Amino acid sequence: MTASPVQILPEDVINRIAAGEVVERPASVVKELVENSLDAKASNIEVHIGGGGLEEIRVLDNGSGMQPNDASRALLRHATSKIRNDVELQCIKSLGFRGEALPSIASVSDFELLTGQGPDVPGSQVMLESQEVVQREAPPRDGTLVIVRNLFSNVPARRKFLKAPRTEFSHILEVVRRASLARPDVSFLLTHDNRTMLKARCTDDLRARARSVFGSALSKRMFEVRSTDGILFFGLLGPPSDATTSSKKLHILINGRPIRDPAIISAVRQAYGPLLERGKTPPGILVFDLDPGTVDVNVHPAKTEIRFSEPSTLYRNVLHAVRTAVGTSPWLSFESDSETRPLTAGPAAHPDGHPSGPSSTPTPYSPATGDTKARSMELEHHGGLRYLGQTAKSFLVCDDGTRLVIIDQQAAHERILLQTIRTHHERGMLKHQPLLFPESVHVDSGQYELATTCQTELSALGFDVEAAAPGVVFVRAVPQLLRRAELSQLIPELLDILSQTSGQQMAYNEDIYRLLARHGCLKRGETIGTDLARELLVGLDTTRGERSVTIMAVLGYTELDRLFSQD
Ligand code: ADP
Ligand code: MG
Repeated sequence: MTASPVQILPEDVINRIAAGEVVERPASVVKELVENSLDAKASNIEVHIGGGGLEEIRVLDNGSGMQPNDASRALLRHATSKIRNDVELQCIKSLGFRGEALPSIASVSDFELLTGQGPDVPGSQVMLESQEVVQREAPPRDGTLVIVRNLFSNVPARRKFLKAPRTEFSHILEVVRRASLARPDVSFLLTHDNRTMLKARCTDDLRARARSVFGSALSKRMFEVRSTDGILFFGLLGPPSDATTSSKKLHILINGRPIRDPAIISAVRQAYGPLLERGKTPPGILVFDLDPGTVDVNVHPAKTEIRFSEPSTLYRNVLHAVRTAVGTSPWLSFESDSETRPLTAGPAAHPDGHPSGPSSTPTPYSPATGDTKARSMELEHHGGLRYLGQTAKSFLVCDDGTRLVIIDQQAAHERILLQTIRTHHERGMLKHQPLLFPESVHVDSGQYELATTCQTELSALGFDVEAAAPGVVFVRAVPQLLRRAELSQLIPELLDILSQTSGQQMAYNEDIYRLLARHGCLKRGETIGTDLARELLVGLDTTRGERSVTIMAVLGYTELDRLFSQD
């Protein structure tokens, strides 16, 4: 009798077929191993690469480790500790769940796993020898080390498709970058041929982690975006001038899992509107916290795609939140003296659910030191601009004959006010404006004290402040120029600066002028009429030589043309 043509494949062939999907290149191995380390609750992960990962990949973690029994079982297909049944498959909180990464990797490499659960119990070594799982006792260790050598040496067809080690390493770097953005609370180290390529210390501040991934300059330029109702997410996005033709630098994390989702990327792009050049994507990171029951992660063997139960709501939320952030053009911000506050986890950044942070409005990035390239510049004559109108209650749209010029009204007025306050103060011309009703302002004891001792300085600045009762001062008059100021914030800050002056020192005065200008200026969000807009433009011409602030975005006619051309 001849053998039936339909046969169940041997285990090692099945594994190698699965490996075809799971292990495309060295970077996929790194991704699976790092995910395992994260699932094992490691707080420290080291990835050491030799020869682009073709020669060697070592992933070392300080996670839970495995008992001897589990260690050998982990190399069996569909062996997983992460889900037990179909119900749990519907609600996955770990990164892994398919139980096929380790057997797949082991089937296409020289594989070794060393694991242990602390110094007091023996560790285990697990290897594949002639397709058989072999386990030995090993020295104790705290966590797991997986060593993968000679990847695909037994699959020449696959090896042929791999690129030069440098290229393969760049994919690995991308994987580790993504993982490190997903989990700022974990330390990562990545080396290639003994050289450190990425080092990220654990932090609770997403911006700090962004610094190790995007570099210090770019991460500073990034602004915060946050959605606090409906679908919860938060993150950082770069200004339009940092957008690139690759969408790889826009990292999307869903419940701690880095994924690719063209629709989310497209929603972000759409939110930037015409600010973005055609085909470009801003760099950044968006961290989503979704109910695990509403996402299906089991749609792709490498788990890099996700299906959402309500995709259109998600995209609408992204579009709306990013548009709101972009609407304030936070990259044009001028507050160069305030350090951006840390961006700690808003919605849970991690699969095991960290608490949600408080809601907040987008933080403008700082400082704007003029390195935003062609989009910020000084004009010769602002007064000569043709004023077209105000947009977004924040920007003056003008035309200078060759370009569309957009000026931030708040920055423009702050700059004018700074100059006016300075000259008026120097000439003793800062006029008091008595308040109809004195305003009481809460101050601390040091500030209270100063309110009595600095009467002369306060009066020269145009303030009439009376120490009323411990912790409270009455403000009876303010300089005319500062009608708009929020006194409850301004007065304590002003007293703080005065506390540092001894006599009239120029440097402190400059700090005071800046403070007053910042508080007194017209804000974004205020509708202004044509007359005031023109006054601002003319006023800007009197402020030449003022400290350089980014106050405008300029779009050349050719650039406009390109934005609208069909290519
Ligand atoms: P999955 O991650 O889908 O469960 P894997 O093949 O990647 O499948 O891993 C199989 C099992 O081995 C995991 O479920 C886990 O229990 C164990 N394991 C793998 N890597 C580690 C590690 N670094 N630390 C502790 N346990 C691990
Ligand atoms: Mg896994």
